[in-house]
Amino acid sequence: MDLIKKAIAWGSRKSPWVIHFNAGACNGCDIEVVDALTPRFDLERAGVIKQGSPRHADVLIVTGAVTLQVRDRLVQIYEQMPSPKFVIAVGACACSGGIFNGCYCVSGGVNTVIPVDAYVPGCAVRPETLIAAVTKLLDKVEAQTAAADGQLPPGPEAEPTPAPAAAAITDQDGGERHGK
Ligand code: SF4
Repeated sequence: MDLIKKAIAWGSRKSPWVIHFNAGACNGCDIEVVDALTPRFDLERAGVIKQGSPRHADVLIVTGAVTLQVRDRLVQIYEQMPSPKFVIAVGACACSGGIFNGCYCVSGGVNTVIPVDAYVPGCAVRPETLIAAVTKLLDKVEAQTAAADGQLPPGPEAEPTPAPAAAAITDQDGGERHGK
């Protein structure tokens, strides 16, 4: 791995810049994302900084089932992000379409439109769950970087993310949360 790629991988691991996109959420998950990023839960402790431009972002956080109205915009935002880039589907709607799955105006979960690296179920998600997902994603990035650099043999962390149900990070009470 050359020096520039190493520097990019190091920056992605140590201070990932995230962009948040509402693809059709009811705002419940969006409030929890903001909660995770602001001082009470303070995801910035892990070096995570919210960005306004996809051209500067490493991680795309998507909430809501993808409506047909924003589907092309979501693809456009994803394509504008530089590689390596990662996507986190936040909330039951983003993971699978949730209660809106099959609706005439909905494409489905985020993975029906763009590749997803981590799924965070819940309705709405808890900030702690989102923080755990970001931490696991960064561990996966580090393992992949180390494996590519020849420092470690590819371990289980470097394996591709399995199907949504198996990769799901559950709430502390073991399932989706309804209401507050
Ligand atoms: S998972 Fe629940 S809180 Fe989140 S966008 Fe869907 S309905 Fe709203």
